[in-house]
Amino acid sequence: MQIIDKTAQLAQAVAQAKERHQTIGLVPTMGALHEGHLSLISRARQENDLVVVSVFVNPIQFNNQEDLAKYPRTVEADCRLLEQAGADIAFVPTVEEMYPEPVATVYHFGPIEEVMEGPRRPGHFSGVAVVVRRLFDLAQPDRAYFGEKDYQQIAIVRNLLEQIKYPIELVACPIVRADDGLALSSRNARLSANARAMAPAIYQTLCQAVEMSETDDVDDVRQYVLDALESYHLVNPQPDDLKFEPEYFEIVDDTTLQPVNTWQGEHGRVGCIAVWLNGVRLIDMVRFR
Ligand code: AMP
Repeated sequence: MQIIDKTAQLAQAVAQAKERHQTIGLVPTMGALHEGHLSLISRARQENDLVVVSVFVNPIQFNNQEDLAKYPRTVEADCRLLEQAGADIAFVPTVEEMYPEPVATVYHFGPIEEVMEGPRRPGHFSGVAVVVRRLFDLAQPDRAYFGEKDYQQIAIVRNLLEQIKYPIELVACPIVRADDGLALSSRNARLSANARAMAPAIYQTLCQAVEMSETDDVDDVRQYVLDALESYHLVNPQPDDLKFEPEYFEIVDDTTLQPVNTWQGEHGRVGCIAVWLNGVRLIDMVRFR
């Protein structure tokens, strides 16, 4: 595996691969790699000749400076994992290398960014789009791999591809969970032991919601999830004053991402949630239909 930290060097490696008519799979990450990331990489490995994995904590997608400062950075361990996972190129640029000039581009995505993460993280999706486009320009992938854990991000990248008309196949990969159901996330490392023990209740509540959806209305299921998490610490007393603070739970059309009030419709239904626990913002999603 090649470890590359310069954009020109990546462009050169990509040009050589293109000369050999090799297909390229790109997996963008912010590092602190776990099995969720590795599932994307193993899928990319199966489907492409050259697998490029970027490890870059993208400052312009953080609307919260504390979150950026505390984001786990484990580049050496990441490179070891990437080598084992069969990546061909680990691209680990500095911020200056990725953004030699201040970033002036702003992307707009219409209704799909006006829900869920969008209003709560101003500038986030534009920052994601800027880095993803930069990575697309450098790696020129045939396929790009993204996780459904960041469900809205997939819709944003799909929309970006329509805007810039790049012939890249977006491959959406299912969420990888810990044995107790918690969606794997780099931010889980920041949970205290007690908070980590409490966190699986998020997915358990989502699973109960899926069961309820057989018999109950959308609004009732939505309210149930919020109430169950908000009152969790009252029903199950916790050490350290731990409690869930849901930021949102929305049941939306799986394609338009707009909130729905019926289970039936042209498209499927997904439930997306953001919850604060122990000073860490966790997100998750489930599919209803
Ligand atoms: P991140 O490093 O958090 O930006 O994530 C990089 C990519 O890995 C994104 O496309 C995420 O959606 C995906 N990802 C993160 N966690 C998981 C997970 N638990 N299961 C599947 N994909 C994931």
